[in-house]
Amino acid sequence: MCVFCEIIKGNIPSTKVYEDDMMVAFKDLNPVAPVHILAVPKEHIECANDINADNSKYVAHIFEKLGEIASSQGISSYRIINNCGADAGQSVMHLHFHLIGGTEMGEKLI
Ligand code: 5GP
Ligand code: ZN
Repeated sequence: MCVFCEIIKGNIPSTKVYEDDMMVAFKDLNPVAPVHILAVPKEHIECANDINADNSKYVAHIFEKLGEIASSQGISSYRIINNCGADAGQSVMHLHFHLIGGTEMGEKLI
């Protein structure tokens, strides 16, 4: 089972900031900014390539909740990052969205 599935099941501890029946959001172990949350669907979807008509509701749901989660962390301005595949830097092969903020963003790719 992948590390995020273990976190979802509670087998690996994490600092959860939001949870419902479709998703969980918890603090990144190695934060790159004062706020660095991972928003993760409870369905094991490997990466963005695997989003389809059957599971896209999980992605939609995460995006419906991101503003609320950011607000709970005291921010309304943030960057959302998804890495898909090894070349893009994906290290955990369970779809997740980085919610990063709490500081002025520096160098940017886009
Ligand atoms: P990726 O590189 O796949 O886009 O992002 C994976 C993220 O998961 C990394 O930022 C890494 O710090 C985080 N991470 C990896 N393992 C754990 C863990 O066991 N707990 C938490 N909270 N974060 C993790
Ligand atoms: Zn998983």
